Amino acid sequence: MSEETLFTRIVEDEIPSDTVYEDETTYAFLDVNPLAPGHTLVIPKEPYERLSELPPAEAADVFSVLGEITAAVEAAVDADGTTIALNNGEAAGQEVPHVHWHIIPQFEDDTARPIHALFDGAELSDEERSEIAARIRDNR
Ligand code: AMP
Repeated sequence: MSEETLFTRIVEDEIPSDTVYEDETTYAFLDVNPLAPGHTLVIPKEPYERLSELPPAEAADVFSVLGEITAAVEAAVDADGTTIALNNGEAAGQEVPHVHWHIIPQFEDDTARPIHALFDGAELSDEERSEIAARIRDNR
């Protein structure tokens, strides 16, 4: 876990933000470069870098409010839906090394492509898929 990140400075109010939610362990604020109106970031206050580092109790805290914050975001900007995304690691586009969920409002008439469109797709045989599943089970 890093000592300090851009987002811990936001939590500490050293950097201003448009805060939309705060409790003992969780914080949410508007993204300064929004992909859509209402684009919100939800974070644990502690600066765990990756999802796998987030202790289950703190993950549970974040998830206990993620749904209601999402509903409030949708209502605030009259969105038809939302994409919830977490860029986990640099290779996935994570720029701030402090785990965070993006809540990105979507509208029937917007031009945003579904998140599936980001990927090239992987052609795998049944055997290859089964082997990967076995490796995942072994690595847990
Ligand atoms: P990621 O690429 O998943 O790490 O996302 C980092 C997000 O943080 C980006 O969408 C940025 O626009 C956002 N961001 C960076 N600096 C700030 C800031 N000072 N206040 C709010 N959002 C920020």
